[in-house]
Amino acid sequence: RIVYVNGDYLPEEDAKISVFDRGFLFADGVYEVTSVLGGKLIDFEGHAKRLERSLSELDMPAPVTMDALLEIHRELVARNEVHEGLVYLQVTRGAADRDFAYPAEPKPSLVLFTQTKTLADAPVAKTGIKVISIEDQRWGRRDIKTVQLLYPSMGKMMAKAAGVDDAWMVEDGAVTEGTSNNAYIVTKAGTIVTRHLGNEILHGITRAAVLRFAREAQMAVEERSFTIEEAKDAAEAFITSASTFVMPVVELDGAQIGDGTPGPVATRLREIYLEESLKKAV
Ligand code: PLP
Repeated sequence: RIVYVNGDYLPEEDAKISVFDRGFLFADGVYEVTSVLGGKLIDFEGHAKRLERSLSELDMPAPVTMDALLEIHRELVARNEVHEGLVYLQVTRGAADRDFAYPAEPKPSLVLFTQTKTLADAPVAKTGIKVISIEDQRWGRRDIKTVQLLYPSMGKMMAKAAGVDDAWMVEDGAVTEGTSNNAYIVTKAGTIVTRHLGNEILHGITRAAVLRFAREAQMAVEERSFTIEEAKDAAEAFITSASTFVMPVVELDGAQIGDGTPGPVATRLREIYLEESLKKAV
């Protein structure tokens, strides 16, 4: 596999990052994951814009222009012959002598790699996933997509230990989001409910697109908090992310949601999302 590191396309075994990189020492870095379908990038512009925002919130310089970033994504997809999968991008504040205070003029590191995966026809989309609820113990700026992912990793391990696929995190009695996705329910009246934007959740690029498509299709949408009890009693539940698109959730804390199979709203939104975002793929 060919990876990109600070201007070079290299075999992965030849790629190097300093031991003093602040991404490694302080999790002082941000990332993006963009999906590839039919060799093209899905929602690239949204991911590039969120990256710019994450960088600016952390006072970190962008290593290259967003146009250059698109070219690097395309070049890597081409070199690795990725028909379907993901492009992972990470920007860190780069190498500096270890000090909590960061340098005024850092030299950021930029790393990209690809992963080939079956996404559109992932078999699990037909059966749905099971989740448990766990306490949300992350920091207070979840709107910034930092590489500080230890708690979400622990959440995934708690889910695995419980024999399920993922965990929904709960704070002050309300669901924030999944370990690596946004969380939704569909009420018995047919309203799609997902938490409102704020510092408590990542502003999902897939979330923005799915809510737009839902409204265009005249579906009712409410952006507000919901509880685990409301979710257990919902007609449907699902998650969204760049790597899962729209994925039905059929069980929560051992309780079946709806009839325990993917619901019509989640199924329809998955179809619309795949169809519409492919049209705009670059
Ligand atoms: N929430 C969290 C915590 C995430 O890590 C992710 C994606 O990685 C998402 C939501 C979904 O965001 P997106 O749709 O931009 O992939």
